[in-house]
Amino acid sequence: MPLGTTGFASGCTPSDTIHTVSIEFQIDAQSGVARSGRLLTQHGEVATPVFMPVGTVASVKGVPQDILEELSVQILLGNTYHLYLRPGVEQVRKLGGLHRFMSWPRAILTDSGGFQVFSLNDLRKVTEEGVTFRSHLDGSSHFFSPESAMQAQIGLGADIIMAFDECTEYPADPVRTRESMELTLRWAARSKKHFEEHKNEVPWNCDRGSSEPTERSGDHLRTPAPAQALFGIVQGGMDRALRKESAERTVEVGFPGYAIGGLSVGEPRELTREIVEATLEHLPTDKPRYLMGVGTPDEIVEYASLGIDMMDCVLPTRAARHGLLFTSEGKISIKQARYAADEAPLDPNCGCRVCSRYSRAYLRHLYAANEVLAQVLNTIHNLSFYLDTMRAVRHSISLGRGARFLSEVWSQPKA
Ligand SMILES: [Zn+2]
Repeated sequence: MPLGTTGFASGCTPSDTIHTVSIEFQIDAQSGVARSGRLLTQHGEVATPVFMPVGTVASVKGVPQDILEELSVQILLGNTYHLYLRPGVEQVRKLGGLHRFMSWPRAILTDSGGFQVFSLNDLRKVTEEGVTFRSHLDGSSHFFSPESAMQAQIGLGADIIMAFDECTEYPADPVRTRESMELTLRWAARSKKHFEEHKNEVPWNCDRGSSEPTERSGDHLRTPAPAQALFGIVQGGMDRALRKESAERTVEVGFPGYAIGGLSVGEPRELTREIVEATLEHLPTDKPRYLMGVGTPDEIVEYASLGIDMMDCVLPTRAARHGLLFTSEGKISIKQARYAADEAPLDPNCGCRVCSRYSRAYLRHLYAANEVLAQVLNTIHNLSFYLDTMRAVRHSISLGRGARFLSEVWSQPKA
């Protein structure tokens, strides 16, 4: 029995147009504060808590889309900053939007570009209006504002898009943290305003409009409804009071889902947990809650146990390319000589196509020989491990046992 649902019925302005539900969140089971449920998007259902692999430039580096489907990836993350620079939003829009361009029929979430722009440090300048930054590719000058970040994300056409925010640096003093939080709140309102005014320009909506002639119902036009969902982002640094205020005021602006930003930026893990807990207290329980940019396998389980529904991180894919593999027996650095003659599978408890076919010795050889296949296979396994972990977490929650890590290696407290 659903414990809570939230619909996001969106449509073109007239009240009698077809209202397509763009995103709906349904909680199916709760165990303590942990919950499992489903996020229903125009591009399929997403079981939560979910880990979203990062596909920076419309590609999860090294892994073809059919294998991502085989791994049961239901939602991917794309980076607006990277796609804006290359191949360009207009190009993607003309090609039917990100789903069609990258041949990915399932759900996509794009970030606002804010985080990447802010990590450029010396290459950016922040004003009330927005951020001027230089491309990391060729040094050319660009400008992102809440409005242009919305325009870019509408053009890319992801199912879930993010408000333009300022990721407060760590550490930051109280005055600076408040100023940054206030700026993010003003930008949240501007993001929402622009989104509401332009959301029907999403490429797959326009596409549907051209292939399905506009219908008439009585004297009123019945137009296909747009179906993106814009999530707000809570900031407030490492200050619990500011997090509370940011959460409450972001909820006042009103979004169908909320993200917790500005964490995992160098602070100690205990502090991350404390701030996540403090923020969650002030977010609606019936809407999806997304913790941005985390984490290790044990961290994603921990945050799911606190009631987080969505997470993303480059860690499994980036670590894989550096030969660092996550397994049910702990971390393995496959480059080590000790694996040179090891005929065992990478993870004896993993059923992925890599573990069921290749030995550690072969994977170690591929890495040492700098073969492209090393990156491909390592990435497939790490993603498989993360996705299996979340599957086990969802199962555990559905049984009323909380979000538990099934492998003892990862459950041990950190030294
Ligand atoms: Zn595996």
